[in-house]
Amino acid sequence: MRRKIIAANWKMNQTVADTESFLEDFRLEVEDVAGVDIVIAPPFTALAKLSELLGGSQKIRTAAQNMYYETSGAFTGEISAAMLRELYVKYVILGHSERRQIFGESDALINKKVITALESELRPILCVGETIEEREAGREREVLETQLRGSLAGVTAEQLVETVIAYEPVWAIGTGRTASTAQAQDCHAHVRAVLAELTDEATADKVRIQYGGSVKPGNAADLLSQPDIDGALVGGASLDPRSFAEIVRAGARE
Ligand code: PEP
Repeated sequence: MRRKIIAANWKMNQTVADTESFLEDFRLEVEDVAGVDIVIAPPFTALAKLSELLGGSQKIRTAAQNMYYETSGAFTGEISAAMLRELYVKYVILGHSERRQIFGESDALINKKVITALESELRPILCVGETIEEREAGREREVLETQLRGSLAGVTAEQLVETVIAYEPVWAIGTGRTASTAQAQDCHAHVRAVLAELTDEATADKVRIQYGGSVKPGNAADLLSQPDIDGALVGGASLDPRSFAEIVRAGARE
């Protein structure tokens, strides 16, 4: 039985003050919720405040939206794993489609980050997903396999269990267009099959695979009821404490 994991990706939104007021409301909303992992990925500037406000909470964990694989040095603008660990960060989103598309991140670069994160006791949330052109050409399975094999090269079975995969069809991110539950389940099952090829079935069965792409309170329960959908990575709808809490509650129920 895989415990559901619902994560907020705030992207380049929310100041420190916004983070404080979000958390005040959100905590009340999820006071009675149990049995689900809740993760919030604010911008780097709000990580310290979020961790401080959470005060070591086991219920809500902090994530970073990115990091670099080197430990220190002349890498202007980058953040290391140790810097994140110092702020009690537990997860790190890696390979988000916005990083791949806008900042040109390759599977080889993402792979170095995944390895560094795992060696630093940070849990990667590794994002994979096809573009609309790739889906229309019927290439989504092949694309997912290439991204998974490239980004997870050298990851052991033990490390894979610590890793969360987020299947995020690029055409569904921030567009209001969600994959149907059948489309999502089909890709999740394929991701799990590739993970089994990379390790073994028992390991792949333990890995949590989130769906991401216009998840909202209205579609969360349906998506989360699918056998291979173990959580959600939520962008837009995670900025509002009430709508994110509703998605979290759906995760606790399903
Ligand atoms: C995301 O950025 O990971 C995402 C899924 O965004 P949205 O929920 O806004 O589509």
